[in-house]
Amino acid sequence: MYASRKNTRVVVVGGGGTIGSSTALHLLRSGYTPSNITILDTYPIPSAQSAGNDLNKIMGVRGRSKVDMKLELEALDMWLKDELFKLYFHQTGRLDCASSNRVASLRQQYQQLVDAGKGLENSNEWLDSEDAILAKAPVLDRNRIQGWKAIYSRDGGWLAAAKAINAIGAALEAAGVRSRVSGAGSFKRPLFTSDGTMCVGAETVDGSKYYADRVVLAGGAWSPVLVDLDDQCCSKAWVYAHFRLTAQEAAAYKGSPVVYNSDVGFFFEPDENGVIKVCDESPGFTHFKEHQPYGANAPKRISVPRSHAKHPTDTYPDASEKSIRRAIDTYLPRFNDKELYNRTLCWCTDTADAAPLICEHPRWKNFIIATGDSGHCFKLLPNIGKHVVELLEGNLADNLAQAWRWRPGGDTLKSTRGAPAKDLADMPGWKHESVAKM
Ligand SMILES: Cc1cc2nc3c(=O)[nH]c(=O)nc-3n(C[C@H](O)[C@H](O)[C@H](O)COP(=O)(O)OP(=O)(O)OC[C@H]3O[C@@H](n4cnc5c(N)ncnc54)[C@H](O)[C@@H]3O)c2cc1C
Repeated sequence: MYASRKNTRVVVVGGGGTIGSSTALHLLRSGYTPSNITILDTYPIPSAQSAGNDLNKIMGVRGRSKVDMKLELEALDMWLKDELFKLYFHQTGRLDCASSNRVASLRQQYQQLVDAGKGLENSNEWLDSEDAILAKAPVLDRNRIQGWKAIYSRDGGWLAAAKAINAIGAALEAAGVRSRVSGAGSFKRPLFTSDGTMCVGAETVDGSKYYADRVVLAGGAWSPVLVDLDDQCCSKAWVYAHFRLTAQEAAAYKGSPVVYNSDVGFFFEPDENGVIKVCDESPGFTHFKEHQPYGANAPKRISVPRSHAKHPTDTYPDASEKSIRRAIDTYLPRFNDKELYNRTLCWCTDTADAAPLICEHPRWKNFIIATGDSGHCFKLLPNIGKHVVELLEGNLADNLAQAWRWRPGGDTLKSTRGAPAKDLADMPGWKHESVAKM
């Protein structure tokens, strides 16, 4: 048990987002005094520019590594049982599909689940034919899934993402956790002792200073822009769009599993208003600029997110319209003529090996980095903050500390994806200049 939870002051930068809100929640649950926890974010929780502020996200146990498997199983348990989270998990099942040369790696993924010794053979099923896939998702069109194989996972489903973060926000507010937004919440730089080695707080863009024993930087895609991370994170945007079904149309899709294919993208059952979200799959888009993060000696080329909250008329590249339409044509061809809206660029930050970067800054004692989500951390909302608190208290498990350590080098532009990200400068169609007031 950490000796001084009651007296330790913690500032969580990005507390309106996924990892930050989870961290603040676990500080509270671990017995930190609410008035000693300060959440800083540009926007109120759930932050309008957080990657987690979304209609829905996929939940599933994929177990790409032992560490991932442990975290995913822990998260699954909390999504199912934790009073705060269970309302937001819709366990509709999940279909992971592939065809042609991708089938071998899907089969390998299935085998890993079965061999993990966690009983996953009981909730995962290999589907070897179109008939077997259609039996799980009758809404799919047989002509569009010729030659497909799939893993059906009964454990999986979707998460009402923004609502879940909102619930954390309500719990934090009710407990009296301090939160600052706008200029008073936007991180500018860490504050240090006179020798510059120990962090003692954070300053925000309006000049406010928040003194603390620990500062956690959970700035998502903005993290490498705010503080020099030695090029360990490259921020990239992915896209989605919405369309609306009539009540009658939506009824047929109620309870459909999430369907994912890495060549196509994914979709979810409609929400209570008949809205379907469709994502394509791509290596993402960067937005390189000359920029000097705090701690860098000089400006450098770095991918700087362009917030859709600050630029609400931005959409996505013309090329994404084609790939989103292709996903709709594959999964939902009867809705090919539906009007799309909420075409959005949503920002995450990739590490080279797709594991998060969650560690103390090597030169700044008490400054904790909690980022590098690599586009798959929302499902860990219930538990990731628990491990950030462990790190803060010096008891993070060795395997997590090893996976999440400070580790410069590697190709963040490609990461573990099929190809390097393209830059938005080369992708016409997304930029529409109108700046929202905060
Ligand atoms: C289209 C899309 C689909 C996805 N689908 C899935 C999925 O199905 N399943 C899944 O598990 N994951 C999914 N993800 C990934 C998931 O959303 C992210 O991994 C996760 O939300 C990242 O959390 P984060 O806390 O690192 O960043 P965020 O949630 O983005 O939080 C960062 C916070 O930092 C704040 N901030 C920025 N600048 C400052 C500043 N100067 N001062 C203070 N605060 C600041 C922001 O306002 C924000 O609140 C998806 C992502 C995208 C884009």
